[in-house]
Amino acid sequence: SITAPTAKKATTLTVAVKCRPITERDHGRNIIKVFDNKEVLVSDPDLSKDYLDRIQNRTKEKRYCFDHAFGPDCTNFNVYLQSVSSVISGVVQGLNATVFAYGSTGSGKTYTMVGTQDDPGLMVLSLHNIFDLIKKDKSSDEFEVSCSYLEVYNEVIYDLLEKSSGHLELREDPAKGIIVAGLRCIKVQTADKILELLNLGNSRRKTESTEANATSSRSHAVLEITVKRKQRKKYQNQIIRGKLALVDLAGSERACETNSGGQKLRDGANINRSLLALANCINALGKQQKKGLAYVPYRNSKLTRILKDGLSGNSQTVMIATISCADCQYHHTVNTLKYADRAK
Ligand code: ADP
Ligand code: MG
Repeated sequence: SITAPTAKKATTLTVAVKCRPITERDHGRNIIKVFDNKEVLVSDPDLSKDYLDRIQNRTKEKRYCFDHAFGPDCTNFNVYLQSVSSVISGVVQGLNATVFAYGSTGSGKTYTMVGTQDDPGLMVLSLHNIFDLIKKDKSSDEFEVSCSYLEVYNEVIYDLLEKSSGHLELREDPAKGIIVAGLRCIKVQTADKILELLNLGNSRRKTESTEANATSSRSHAVLEITVKRKQRKKYQNQIIRGKLALVDLAGSERACETNSGGQKLRDGANINRSLLALANCINALGKQQKKGLAYVPYRNSKLTRILKDGLSGNSQTVMIATISCADCQYHHTVNTLKYADRAK
């Protein structure tokens, strides 16, 4: 059968790369250059001078181009303004969006999503912006903003807003679609306390030492902000909901690098499943953008089922690929850039 083209605006995918500065712990040399807020140049630290002379510098640097590229001096606020702020007004109008940070452990995912007091991250800035837009809204609509914060670890869902959360299950609700049964959803009036809440939630995330990195996070953390809008009498008090999912993914190095047995292996395999499933969804979205309709295989993992609404329909997806400037991270950096490059 032939699928008729839908009137809906197709899902759009924005791909940005953010490069973190070299820290004292890296002891490293910078191998990254960012140009024109779009281009990333990465040089291979292993190529010797002699070798480079012989091949006339031809393979010294590799160039990648993205929707946005942010250098080491770029603040989270700047990243926010250029790559995320445009999707927020849609969320207040009842549309869905997903923003996620993808990269190896230590590349700056949590810094980008949660941030610090001085440099608040995308989760904090998004919530602030939502409240600003509601304040400025000229209609007489009533708004209600609520947040949930969960973790997917080992293909099991835990509530990061609860002190000691049990396993939570996914359910298909006839009216609401896929929901996480029993997940705490708190109403919020301002964005003021969100950073505290996120830090507390993060302290509950499951981390385990692996050969890849002693403090690597093997879990995916999802902050979901729901904006419920009760429209004016003119629209018979109709209620619309916009959802914004902000995701701090598990380290992307898991798949290829971790080399440990028992529990950890299963762990690695499962993280792989959610990351892999998300990767496949992102690839499908990329194709959709280029060639029109494509099937987005969101059913293959817990993470993608949770994110379904924000990955399909007329939702907006923003991928922030995080990399480090340091030469010792070259291998991870190239893997992340290649992945991000394929996605766009
Ligand atoms: P990930 O969550 O990807 O494992 P983190 O966000 O924890 O990585 O970042 C690793 C380290 O780098 C942390 O110490 C963090 O504070 C630091 N860092 C990351 N991005 C920046 C940045 N833009 N400016 C300063 N420090 C950063
Ligand atoms: Mg982290």
